[in-house]
Amino acid sequence: MKKCLNDPIFKLISSVADSRNMPAFVIGGYVRDFYLGRVSKDIDIVTLGSGIELAESVANKLGDDVKVNVFKNFGTAMLKYGELEIEFVGARKESYRIESRKPIVEDGSLEDDQKRRDFTINAMAFCLNKDRFSELVDPFNGISDLENKIIRTPLEPNTTFSDDPLRMMRAIRFANQLNFIIDDITFQAIKENKERLKIVSAERIVDEFNKILSTLKPSIGINLLAESGLLDEFFPELNNLKGVDEKLGKMHKDNFYHTLEVLDNICNQSDNIWLRWAALLHDIAKPRTKRFSDSVGWTFHGHDHLGSKMVSGIFRRLKLPLNEKMKYVEKLVQLHLRPIALSQEVVTDSAVRRLLFDAGNEIDDLMMLCEADITSKNEKTVTKHLNNFRIVRKKLVEIEEKDAIRNFQPPISGEQIMEVFNLKPCQYVGDIKNAIKEAILDGLIKNNYDEAYHFMLKKGEELGLKPAK
Ligand code: ATP
Ligand code: MG
Repeated sequence: MKKCLNDPIFKLISSVADSRNMPAFVIGGYVRDFYLGRVSKDIDIVTLGSGIELAESVANKLGDDVKVNVFKNFGTAMLKYGELEIEFVGARKESYRIESRKPIVEDGSLEDDQKRRDFTINAMAFCLNKDRFSELVDPFNGISDLENKIIRTPLEPNTTFSDDPLRMMRAIRFANQLNFIIDDITFQAIKENKERLKIVSAERIVDEFNKILSTLKPSIGINLLAESGLLDEFFPELNNLKGVDEKLGKMHKDNFYHTLEVLDNICNQSDNIWLRWAALLHDIAKPRTKRFSDSVGWTFHGHDHLGSKMVSGIFRRLKLPLNEKMKYVEKLVQLHLRPIALSQEVVTDSAVRRLLFDAGNEIDDLMMLCEADITSKNEKTVTKHLNNFRIVRKKLVEIEEKDAIRNFQPPISGEQIMEVFNLKPCQYVGDIKNAIKEAILDGLIKNNYDEAYHFMLKKGEELGLKPAK
């Protein structure tokens, strides 16, 4: 195994700490990641005494261009050195009040500091002082949990989770990210403390949730969230997708597991977190649109449209950005049935043009989402859909080459229409502009100025308008 604390920065911190007579340790994520063979650019240093003073002495040694960011209120200091971000803090002991995840903090021993950490694998430390340099300090046997791939709290888990309920999200995030198992007693405590999540801010929750979404297989984490009851606490719409109804011997699929399958499929194709959100939300309105009729069985009419309408409410509550990222997700949810509907009919040029027009630059992501949405276990169905999609994709390329619809710009502007017919801004202008667009999408005219100009004159005539000259 590679030697730990190889980077020369550790020797430097060591000598500064020794010269000041301060015990100092590397602690937490860096130590864990060292054993996991993961590269970590964040280094947390804990010392007995003032973390800020130690940071300033280290920065002095490193040279003038190294600046220390001091966070007085937290008693921490951070310095950037090359690619590394090194944070210094004095060892602390924490006590919690019931209504807040912000602790009352006092100076403490190294062991106090390790006790306040979330998991045994995150509570290990390497000593930096010369006489014990690189010695592992591991009072909760994190190293064996690391070997056995177990997430476990250092203290009684009810205390750890009740103190700071964000740790429940972190447990599941680490289990998912590192492919670890959550110890039974720890998982039981998550179930028991799930309601404590309400004292955690939406920003922190969604931060962890996005880390789950960014893993190779987020279904693992989301299943754990559902099983523990946490999902229902912060994301009931997703949890409500669960379940299967049966009437007259007819069943529909379980939309929760279907959604997770679609999400995992997308994750094999793309790292785009917003495409992953679109996969997660594509069927979100199914419970609200579910109907049963004797003749057709279960239907979810309009779940694409209603689902797209639900996106902004969910984004607002979860404190996700209400900007073009959200619009992108809305658009994909709104359009997610279109390619499949298209591929079930004879694929006409005008239907492809309309899809291109509506999807614009998102067309490739939309096609990816729709392919991920095919989760049928029937191989014949899957092959049929995939073949049809191949045809749609081919047509999309042909039509785009021919008609350039993807970034549609009206070939004739409103101003030009007003000028030609000597009009002030009025209903006619919009009507003519829209008629030109429709004619292009229907393939009546080509997407160019000349054909659009002639069409405009004809349309004007129909409306009883006369050209100005
Ligand atoms: P990553 O950086 O991959 O998210 P990490 O474990 O380094 O993982 P950080 O948030 O950087 O996580 O935190 C650094 C260390 O601080 C952790 O390893 C852990 O020891 C401690 N820690 C962070 N958040 C908490 C928390 N909510 N409760 C207890 N200890 C925590
Ligand atoms: Mg970290």
